[in-house]
Amino acid sequence: MEHDALIEKVVTLSKNRGFIFRANELYGGLAGVYDYGPLGSILKNNIKALWIKKFVEEREDMFLLDSAIIMGENALTASGHVGGFSDPLVKDLVSGKEYRADHILEENGINVEGKTLEEMTELIKEHKILSPEKNPLGEVREFNLMLKTSLGSSSDSSSQAYLRPETAQGIFINYKNIVDSMHPKIPFGVAQIGKAYRNEITPRNFIFRLRELEQMEIEYFIHPSEWEKIFEYWREEMLEWLELVGIDMSKIHEVEISEQDRAHYSKRTIDFEFEYPFGTKELYGLAYRTDYDLKKHEEFSKTKLHYQDPLSGESYTPHVVEPSMGLDRTILAVLLSAYKEDTLGDGAERSYLALPPQIAPYKIAVSPLVKNKDHIVEKAREVFGLLKSEFGNVTWDDNGNVGKRYRRQDEIGTPFCVVVDYDSFEDNKISVRDRNTGEQERVSFDDLVSYFKEKLA
Ligand code: ATP
Repeated sequence: MEHDALIEKVVTLSKNRGFIFRANELYGGLAGVYDYGPLGSILKNNIKALWIKKFVEEREDMFLLDSAIIMGENALTASGHVGGFSDPLVKDLVSGKEYRADHILEENGINVEGKTLEEMTELIKEHKILSPEKNPLGEVREFNLMLKTSLGSSSDSSSQAYLRPETAQGIFINYKNIVDSMHPKIPFGVAQIGKAYRNEITPRNFIFRLRELEQMEIEYFIHPSEWEKIFEYWREEMLEWLELVGIDMSKIHEVEISEQDRAHYSKRTIDFEFEYPFGTKELYGLAYRTDYDLKKHEEFSKTKLHYQDPLSGESYTPHVVEPSMGLDRTILAVLLSAYKEDTLGDGAERSYLALPPQIAPYKIAVSPLVKNKDHIVEKAREVFGLLKSEFGNVTWDDNGNVGKRYRRQDEIGTPFCVVVDYDSFEDNKISVRDRNTGEQERVSFDDLVSYFKEKLA
């Protein structure tokens, strides 16, 4: 499938089937902000639940955190965000439109690794680079990406606050609280899922570059001597997760980030890139952040952020390995990986989402073959109640004819459709249709629950 066609199809399906809408659409939309609709919300929650299951519940060394979105200026000054969380901005001198200078240069085949703002301005001049609208560009300047707000009625600097630009800092500033309340032994991790805000200069590519985004991050606190081994361990954990959540592994590329291009706090970073239809770009990052963050917060808060080893008595500032995963980019990569088109045995063309059953919004759709036969509807309702109580997200679908229901359930990724028909009263069986193959089999009422327990495992 053409790349442009694929993204268009996924965007259209997301809107038409209730997964993802443009935020504020009624009033013309807000750039870089999206709403998750009824099915998108379930998909998102299922992905979060699977992430928590894998990285928190199935482990003994991980603590979950839900820290505040609003953060004070002091914490974000300590972390370096107030001074340095910025992108290079350049203005089209005619239209006034703003662009990421590094993106414009890279799109023109110019390497910007390690370049200063002045050097980027020079490169634009030297190569006579124009804006996408073919107009001259101005000087490159720094643009801080944080969204500012203020608390309370006074406008002095003490009320200055920000919407957090990453969930990570909420973990670092709670390090002491977690150590004091949970008494963990190193190595241990703190995991957090939550919203973050970045005033991106050019939000684009659907939910790839957002201004309101959600992250799933882990800060894993370690003894510095172990960082290489633990970094490698998390690399593998992230690959396992990518596969588990249904991302096409043939489209994943690991990229070692060079020293020049790494964030100042990082001693090693790997990006996990995905082949999106609009290019191969970052999906996740894995960084060895050393003790940079805890040391900075220690310095600015004047509070000791140490770890005392109970066995050796050694006291030290823990180092950190950070697997960082964008939730919206996960959803985009999952949808792009799952979207398929084929022609069924009866010649019918269809599109479907081959979502893993664990994250599919609905696990099973239950229908009566016809709506006007009471005994069929009654039996189907009974099956629906049984499966819903057993498997949770099961949907009732009696709209249109059975063929139309199959198309709709295929498009939203429901792994199985169950239909109660006339024969059900003869053979005590119902027909179960498999989303991926379109094939049907008859399953006895009595075996239904065990059948699906196996299929949905
Ligand atoms: P990029 O280089 O694409 O701007 P980044 O390197 O700034 O990303 P990080 O600061 O490492 O990203 O953020 C961690 C993760 O959060 C990313 O790997 C990505 O999955 C997600 N993320 C970051 N920025 C955005 C955004 N604007 N919209 C959606 N997801 C984002």
